[in-house]
Amino acid sequence: MARNLVAQLSKAGGDFELVEREIPTPGPGEVRIKVKACGICFSDHMVKDGAWPGLTYPRVPGHEVVGVIDAADAGVTGWKKGDRVGVGWHGGHDFVCPSCRRGDFVTCVNQAITGITRDGGYAQYVLARQEALALLPDGLASAEAGPLMCAGVTTFNALRNSGARAGDLVGVLGIGGLGHLGIQYAAKSGYRVVGIGRGPENAELAKRLGALAYIDSKATTAAEELRKLGGAKLILATAPNAKAITDLVDGLSVGGELLIVGAPFEPMEISAVQLIPARRAIQGWPSGTAMDSQETLEFSAFAGVRPMIERYPLTKVKDAYERMASGHAEFRVVLTMD
Ligand SMILES: [Zn+2]
Ligand SMILES: [Zn+2]
Repeated sequence: MARNLVAQLSKAGGDFELVEREIPTPGPGEVRIKVKACGICFSDHMVKDGAWPGLTYPRVPGHEVVGVIDAADAGVTGWKKGDRVGVGWHGGHDFVCPSCRRGDFVTCVNQAITGITRDGGYAQYVLARQEALALLPDGLASAEAGPLMCAGVTTFNALRNSGARAGDLVGVLGIGGLGHLGIQYAAKSGYRVVGIGRGPENAELAKRLGALAYIDSKATTAAEELRKLGGAKLILATAPNAKAITDLVDGLSVGGELLIVGAPFEPMEISAVQLIPARRAIQGWPSGTAMDSQETLEFSAFAGVRPMIERYPLTKVKDAYERMASGHAEFRVVLTMD
């Protein structure tokens, strides 16, 4: 009988264990996905290290899941066997909390989180709730679609919900897993994009991805360089470095907005005086709903936005995770199941 090979963690700080489980049966409102690929995200360390409050083990991480629906509960409408789908961080909602009653599902107080509160995609098969599914467009390969379910939707959805308009100067801090996608989305959305990184290494790459200019924050004062360009209407902060983020506040234009999607561990120090006279704002942004993910996939397919990935088979999960954790991957590590 066929089994379900999964990479699970059975305790905080433990190692990945490859175990065979029974192939799960979809519960009410769920589908079963035969996984094709699953990206490894930095946030997966919360399962590996036990940093998520109330996390229970064993747990299969992975919230950049892409595959094909293989079975569906009788109550599932709108999805069928054979549909190519993706599942991201947002793994479902309760439909009844105050946020849900306002239609703001991504802030649901009882939000299910893929790979955190329920098993994720480091597996051959995974169950997913129907409201958590995004339909894949044709022409997007599974391994490339994986990182778009987290890194992609996070940057694309943050940008398109910001106050910036086509033609505005947009800085993208960090040329990494999120940033290399953020630059592409920003450029394809019609912004004048400036990549900001530490050191000269990624200058060429940033321009190849669509940036008009690159600022080396090691060699120059990045905020000053942004001001020379007129000031940024928006800075998308993808590098989880408090100092690097706060150093950029003075590079915002009048009414400029600092939008944070990469979470530093340490607190950020910003003076109100940096914000008040020029009406600057600071905001955080969570990824998005399944529909946001679906629109991210569609935009990526037609605009030609793709993540740069390194592939590993599921059986090499330890190497793959270490590669992600090393910070040297260019730029997203993806597990493939075939
Ligand atoms: Zn993620
Ligand atoms: Zn809710």
